[in-house]
Amino acid sequence: MSGQPVFGGIEAGGTKFVCVIGTGPEDIRARTRFPTTEPEETLQRAVDFFREHAHGRLHALGIASFGPVELRRNHPDYGHITITPKPRWSGTDIVGYLRTALDVRIGFDTDVNGAALGEGRWGAARGLGTFVYMTVGTGLGVGSVVGGGTAHGLVHPEMGHVSVPRQPGDAFPGRCPFHGDCLEGMAAGPAIEERWGRRGEELTGGELDLAIDIEAGYLAAGLRNIVYTIAPERIVIGGGVAKMPGLIPRVRRRLIENLAGYPGLPEHSSDEFVVPAALGDMAGPVGALVLADLAAN
Ligand code: ZN
Repeated sequence: MSGQPVFGGIEAGGTKFVCVIGTGPEDIRARTRFPTTEPEETLQRAVDFFREHAHGRLHALGIASFGPVELRRNHPDYGHITITPKPRWSGTDIVGYLRTALDVRIGFDTDVNGAALGEGRWGAARGLGTFVYMTVGTGLGVGSVVGGGTAHGLVHPEMGHVSVPRQPGDAFPGRCPFHGDCLEGMAAGPAIEERWGRRGEELTGGELDLAIDIEAGYLAAGLRNIVYTIAPERIVIGGGVAKMPGLIPRVRRRLIENLAGYPGLPEHSSDEFVVPAALGDMAGPVGALVLADLAAN
């Protein structure tokens, strides 16, 4: 490792942590991943990684975390996971633990806002000031950058939980533990699996085609809400479910139908408006490096 200061990044997920040291996707000098277990054990593994591989040159650390998290800097619980269904993690002071152990400046945001920042600096939303990143996998999360910064206020937006109209013929009740049939409840991977009795990647033929159509319908309905509230210049879609064959072109078509010509911008109909993520699994970890960079300056 050279003598230059470097950044650390943590994508703190509910099932795994990914830690990187570097300055961007082309310059990752060390990385590791391990399962999310007990809070202290998990955070200490991250500390050990940075101590061992950064050789005291860590300039700042970015953390893109599962949540909900407290992001208000003047709040006593800033940097904590708040109330999460994940056992034992409610109230965990992620930022405090890592700042005490590593003594560096820390940038902190949600996992999806981090991934959005990564796609904005190096990926599918490069050069844009206002865009969203939607990941569809075991959950459905949406990160947003508005006017160059991630959006949060009282809490961070939770656009995965917007209401969506039921797609014609779909009797699936939904599986969000809070809302039942919100966007995540109808369109995340586990909803597909429960609706069809098997995983999305095991579907074939007419069933697969119908599953993709229903999925595109829900995503487009959710994106209509997002288009009208955030006014994104682009929508980037990642996550395992986004790899269903032909899903993204169908989301584009269904979104255009959903917007019904209002407000009539040609950009909304462009193939550049809804695009697949470019950074894959690295969006979160390198997005955490952006958070570190922002915290350092
Ligand atoms: Zn919900």
